[in-house]
Amino acid sequence: MKNHYKLVILGGGAGGISTASRILSKNKNLKNEILIIEPDDYHYFQPAWPLVGSGEVNLESTWKPMEKVLPKGSKWLQERVERVAPVGRVVKAGDYNIEYDFLVVALGIELNYEAIEGLPEALGTSGICTNYLVDHVEYTYDTLTKVTSGNIIVTKPKSKIKGGVSAENSLFTMDNFLKSRERSADIVFRSGKQEIFEVKKYDDSLREQMDEKNIDYELNQELIKIDASEKKAVFENAQTGEKSTESFEMIVVTPPMHGPSVLDDSNLLDEEGWVDVDPYTMMHKTYTTVFSLGDSSSLPTVKMGGAVRKQMPVLVENLLDRMNDKEPSHEYDGKTACPIATEYGELILAEFGYDRIPEETTFLDQSDDKKFLYQFKKNMLPIMYWYGMLKGKA
Ligand SMILES: Cc1cc2nc3c(=O)[nH]c(=O)nc-3n(C[C@H](O)[C@H](O)[C@H](O)COP(=O)(O)OP(=O)(O)OC[C@H]3O[C@@H](n4cnc5c(N)ncnc54)[C@H](O)[C@@H]3O)c2cc1C
Repeated sequence: MKNHYKLVILGGGAGGISTASRILSKNKNLKNEILIIEPDDYHYFQPAWPLVGSGEVNLESTWKPMEKVLPKGSKWLQERVERVAPVGRVVKAGDYNIEYDFLVVALGIELNYEAIEGLPEALGTSGICTNYLVDHVEYTYDTLTKVTSGNIIVTKPKSKIKGGVSAENSLFTMDNFLKSRERSADIVFRSGKQEIFEVKKYDDSLREQMDEKNIDYELNQELIKIDASEKKAVFENAQTGEKSTESFEMIVVTPPMHGPSVLDDSNLLDEEGWVDVDPYTMMHKTYTTVFSLGDSSSLPTVKMGGAVRKQMPVLVENLLDRMNDKEPSHEYDGKTACPIATEYGELILAEFGYDRIPEETTFLDQSDDKKFLYQFKKNMLPIMYWYGMLKGKA
């Protein structure tokens, strides 16, 4: 393997693969000049995992072998990135020191289950579930089918997360599951955040949905501890520090998350630990040979695949500009898309940009749940992902 590439891409997830595909389709001279560093054997369509957790989608349909999604003309180094030195333009991964002209960081977000006392060792037992790990998603639905009474707690942390509304997806579909079978279990939603949703229009409609469905929800409640043997969860009020304990039959945890710790000493991260890029051009604020998109970036939007889809074409144009010694000429407006199933077969689709003003694709009011939007998410989105976005099409 060569030790120098024109472009090195860190991470073969949604952002890394789609960027490689698009830039290769735009500039054939980059053939064999792009290296993707990614340790995983498989590429996952993570947005489908909450649907696996609600029994709507087979887990096997959410992954493909990595070599099947890598664009022709790119090279794959199956290693974990360990260090990046942006001044010398070198990436260390395994036994390799790879030099680059340009770098795209698409390392995703890190899940921090360890932040919750008692959780890591208890996951997958005693009704303790998460939809954020491929090996655990099926346990969510399996557990749901067995719960007949007591509380099903759904949690969301105060940190930034990917798939920003996956907790809400779970709680609404689980509520629908229980009611349609006349089970007496209750859905309880505890979020460490200050609001349900950061755009008022969708916040209003989600609160309305929770009230209509009699869902017990509280904000500013951060999950800090799980006692698996007693089936109890401890929460800390993010404003007062007061602690409270609740019993559960089942709990679905969205863990706290943070940026790529492997870059901690690279000088590439901002104060909060995200890759420090300009919010419009996605070029690094200090190193003009470095770009970032997706969950690991500092882009101040909700971290979603739907956001990556909008970021990727802009990043590619700006990267090509830089490869031609020009200033970046394209701007990303922060557009993201958050689908929220309000029951099996109904969905709200929140769409907005940096200004947090709704910017909806259809002519209908997308804060009002719609059947066709649910079918779109369940059946069309995976096709668009595998055959559109990952092939570099916006
Ligand atoms: C449960 C859940 C529900 C979601 N729901 C939705 C939804 O409804 N709609 C939506 O649009 N989005 C949703 N998302 C979010 C979406 O999947 C992400 O926003 C998207 O995948 C971000 O792309 P990315 O390339 O930044 O990160 P990822 O796609 O996560 O890719 C990061 C890649 O980096 C690799 N990597 C990590 N560390 C290293 C290392 N040290 N060296 C090399 N490689 C490394 C990883 O293996 C991974 O392949 C959801 C996600 C989850 C988990």
